Amino acid sequence: MTIVDTPERRQLRELTRAFVTREVLPHLADWERAGEVPRSLHETAAKIGLLGIGFAESVGGSGGDLLDSIVVTEEIIRSGGSSGLVAALFTHGIALPHIVAAQDEALVDRYVRPTLAGTMIGALAITEPDGGSDVAGIRTCAVRDGDHYVVNGSKTYITSGVRADFVTTAVCTDFPGSGSLSLLVIDKGAPGFTVGRRLEKLGWHCSDTAELSFADVRVPVANRVGPEDTAFLAIMQQFAAERLSLATQAYATAQRCVDLAVRWCRDRSTFGRPLASRQLVRHRLAEMHTRAEAARAYVHEVAERVAAKQPVVTEVAMAKNVAVAACDFVVDAALQLHGGFGYLRDAEVERHYRDARILGIGGGTTEIMNEIIAKGMGL
Ligand SMILES: Cc1cc2nc3c(=O)[nH]c(=O)nc-3n(C[C@H](O)[C@H](O)[C@H](O)COP(=O)(O)OP(=O)(O)OC[C@H]3O[C@@H](n4cnc5c(N)ncnc54)[C@H](O)[C@@H]3O)c2cc1C
Repeated sequence: MTIVDTPERRQLRELTRAFVTREVLPHLADWERAGEVPRSLHETAAKIGLLGIGFAESVGGSGGDLLDSIVVTEEIIRSGGSSGLVAALFTHGIALPHIVAAQDEALVDRYVRPTLAGTMIGALAITEPDGGSDVAGIRTCAVRDGDHYVVNGSKTYITSGVRADFVTTAVCTDFPGSGSLSLLVIDKGAPGFTVGRRLEKLGWHCSDTAELSFADVRVPVANRVGPEDTAFLAIMQQFAAERLSLATQAYATAQRCVDLAVRWCRDRSTFGRPLASRQLVRHRLAEMHTRAEAARAYVHEVAERVAAKQPVVTEVAMAKNVAVAACDFVVDAALQLHGGFGYLRDAEVERHYRDARILGIGGGTTEIMNEIIAKGMGL
């Protein structure tokens, strides 16, 4: 089963493609050098209804579901955007869902609506310098003091952390490492909240990444998302959408690189003949295409099941690993087929090769996905 291409979804693809062609492609190289995308891009994407896809109109979104979000992600990358751009522009896809699920009207008005309108930027902070895979081991603590929490600790590798106006932050509301977690929305500018250095990375250059530190930061209890000590489950539940988004970025990057490699191999001649006329090259392209297509079909099937609220934690982990493996194989092969040009900053395939490396790390590593899969097998 693949995501059904309804007339609305075809329109959504066209809208996304036009947005990328007009608003992204002329500037992406500059944003990669600048280390971030401009705030104006969020507003532009919001105005045409793209930013709010996957969020209900009742919270300021444009409607649609997980499958529509997947369509947008797929199309951004296939039209020449990148997974880094998706990470930067759609960080709200991980920063907002917990707030929406908690159905807290005040938090929705204050953070969700302006973010979906493109006037605020949010981030999600779970990972800490001591470790990201072990979510239950979070050490950033929030101690209750009247109608506030006092937060101490630090977070790292936070996407959009440099630009974010607020950070949905996982904190321990018992002793450090107890696994009793809560989520607090922390405003930039809160005394004691410091955004540290902008982290330099292998890829995702247009997506800013930050270290955050909290020293006696007072956060109103009203900024807690949902009941105290229930965030571990909430985080695990929302991981499904994040992992499927990363899986989508992986197969879409692979598909884009197949397209780039096919074009290159048709145009490039060696020893008097186009590369694409060589059986070895044609078979390599066929294998790349097969892996990308198989990954796409499986991710779509799992996404349909997630959208239908089926319990598919194991399948989501498998989808992420299958798509990341396909992507790793394809970006490497595509770069190789481009020869020396593939190694240059001028080559789009070079950016995808670097950007792809994070997909098996973010949102739960390949090894952590294997742990989930092994548990699902009863091991
Ligand atoms: C560019 C970028 C953007 C990111 N954005 C965000 C963000 O917005 N918000 C956020 O909260 N986090 C973010 N992260 C963090 C990311 O989710 C973590 O890096 C990831 O979860 C892994 O955690 P870690 O880096 O601490 O690795 P560790 O947990 O220290 O793991 C190190 C290695 O050991 C392996 N390993 C760990 N435990 C086991 C085990 N039990 N068995 C076998 N192998 C194991 C891991 O697979 C990995 O290979 C981002 C990271 C990057 C690089």
